[in-house]
Amino acid sequence: MTRRAPDSCPGVLRLHEAADGPLARIRVPGGRLEPAQLQALAEAAHDLADGNIELTSRGNVQLRRVSDAAALTDRLVAAGLLPSTTHERVRNIIASPLSGRIGGLADVRPLVRALDTGLLAAPRLADLPGRVLFTLDDGRGDVSGLGPDVGVHAVGADEFALLLAGGDSGLRLSAADAVDVVLAAAQAFLDLRGADPGRWRLHEIEHGAERVIDRLGSAPSADELEFPATPDIPIGWLEQDDGSVALGMGVRLGSLPARTAEFLAAVERPVFLTPWRSLVVTDLPEWTAEQVVRVLAPMGLIFDADSPWLLVSACAGQPGCAKSHTDVRADAADAVGAGRVLPGPADPLDLPRTMSAAEVAVAGRQHWSGCDRRCGRPQGEVTDIVATSEGYRVDRPPRVP
Ligand code: SF4
Repeated sequence: MTRRAPDSCPGVLRLHEAADGPLARIRVPGGRLEPAQLQALAEAAHDLADGNIELTSRGNVQLRRVSDAAALTDRLVAAGLLPSTTHERVRNIIASPLSGRIGGLADVRPLVRALDTGLLAAPRLADLPGRVLFTLDDGRGDVSGLGPDVGVHAVGADEFALLLAGGDSGLRLSAADAVDVVLAAAQAFLDLRGADPGRWRLHEIEHGAERVIDRLGSAPSADELEFPATPDIPIGWLEQDDGSVALGMGVRLGSLPARTAEFLAAVERPVFLTPWRSLVVTDLPEWTAEQVVRVLAPMGLIFDADSPWLLVSACAGQPGCAKSHTDVRADAADAVGAGRVLPGPADPLDLPRTMSAAEVAVAGRQHWSGCDRRCGRPQGEVTDIVATSEGYRVDRPPRVP
């Protein structure tokens, strides 16, 4: 696939002109926010944007209707959320959110820091398209299925599979080599991409993975593993290996009000953004965890793994996107409120016609889109509810034979 336009992914220094105003996307490698960083984001959302922090499907955040880009930049720099003016859009690193705290075969936290440091230290890697995705999976299989351009997946305490273009390359690496090889693969992608601005992802280059392997000078040595997309959202009370508690929290349609974020920052523990547009606050004593649930559940954060909100995602829709046929977020929220988001797997029946928002009643994971582009659609088995000029169309996920 070759596009004509260069990649125009937004950042902080290059805002996206959305229909409702300028939008800033802030990269958060590994999804980790220190309490002071979350507080800074909350204040920026309140003072300089629309009052909400949007969580993205890559564990990053967005602010909408930014009123003063220079002031936002200054605040993010001060908070350590914009360490580079050249590489800000390439720091798309998703890691297993619970790594080093609960389960997993290896602790990928040091790899997150090393990969981010390595990206920032390589001037040429600033040329990576903003769509390129790196994943670091600690072996539990929660993020390898997200289709990384380059990633590693722990297959033992000190052995990682190298992932290229969303699949297992068959190469195996030690922990000590993992980041260097990932960075070398990113350089190889740039070599293959050449001067063609229309190729944003490794899988868009013919035989891209094989050609990267050639450039790495290695030969696959293992049977290739499969990495299905698993919506393994950590929700509720999670006991850490060290005896403290992590709390997984769903966020309605991925939009976190600044006021709620301030309460979360006041807990003074690291907070992780997940690629399922949820949060995990970690390292809590039991008593503190109980107070957090008591305060934040009434504010709308979701601690119940059976909540229908966890089945629903939506694109920006109106008024944020000019392409949208309607306000899909309001319609999705109405569907949850009216009990029309049903538990269980997707209903296999085909619905051949379009329907009004009030007629949509769908079981299982579902993504509401304002048009056929389906922005932000999660990976895996998801029913698409797509707005058209005649109403909503429901597209079932492909049947598994
Ligand atoms: S899916 Fe369509 S309406 Fe929704 S954000 Fe993307 S382009 Fe806009």
